[in-house]
Amino acid sequence: MPRGLVLVSTPIGNLADISARALSALRSADLVLCEDTRTTARLLTAHGVSARTMALHEHNEDGRTTQVLALLREGKRIALVSDAGTPLVSDPGYRLVRAAIAEGLPVSGIPGANAALLALTLSGLPPHPFLFLGFPPPRQAARLAAFTALRGAERAGLSATLIWYEAPHRLAETLADLAQSLGDRPAAIARELTKRFEEVRRGTLPELAAHYATNAARGEIVILAGPPPEQETPEADLDALLSAALTSHSLKEAVAQVTAATGLPRRQVYARALALTGRED
Ligand code: SAM
Repeated sequence: MPRGLVLVSTPIGNLADISARALSALRSADLVLCEDTRTTARLLTAHGVSARTMALHEHNEDGRTTQVLALLREGKRIALVSDAGTPLVSDPGYRLVRAAIAEGLPVSGIPGANAALLALTLSGLPPHPFLFLGFPPPRQAARLAAFTALRGAERAGLSATLIWYEAPHRLAETLADLAQSLGDRPAAIARELTKRFEEVRRGTLPELAAHYATNAARGEIVILAGPPPEQETPEADLDALLSAALTSHSLKEAVAQVTAATGLPRRQVYARALALTGRED
């Protein structure tokens, strides 16, 4: 294992999905930083590795960073792992890595599993370009605003397969919001990858939204939506964006949001919002 900070990827379910180099790095590390020491202990035990572990998570990362930088300056070998997959990807570690880089301390990585990339390759959707967006906002108003902004970016030229992580209890509502904001397009749900009940369900966003509205999802989930269809009618699109925004915003706020997202004249968006809501000027 090289000196310095080493980002070590771990399995996303199947404990056998870890590289020989990752195991050797964990074995020779002076310290293994992990999100949850119990989760990492299970992995280490399964592979007969004994290592000194210390928790580094969202809530103590700043304090730990000072401590870890001091160890790195002494030339120690420090491994960083997360509970699953690649550290930093919707997981802690970014602030530590940024601080180590700023001090010119060595940072390297041992690649391995990542749920977003495995889901992308299994989805049947165009593999690139792709845009990984982490977890959508948990609150519906913020989520719809985020999806509307994304739709605005698509109208401005973004064309990529979109990838999110999501908790099972929010899947149905997030899919409904996605269907409403992004419309009818190919999508996929990748669930429990590398585990016993692995499943990839493919369909359009409305089809998947309808399925999960009546079939509660379990386990760990990746949502993928294909790029926007090439032929689009701007009017239908404007209506979809406005309808989505109007579910959680006042008419004035919805018009402001959709105007910003589409770049269309405010007058046109306002007139359409009045028509959709049946209100008068
Ligand atoms: N760092 C991890 C990675 O590289 O994939 C992701 C960590 S993030 C906190 C955890 C989320 O990743 C889960 O809520 C789920 O959305 C997704 N995920 C992790 N393992 C998964 C699996 N086996 N199948 C599907 N999704 C998974």
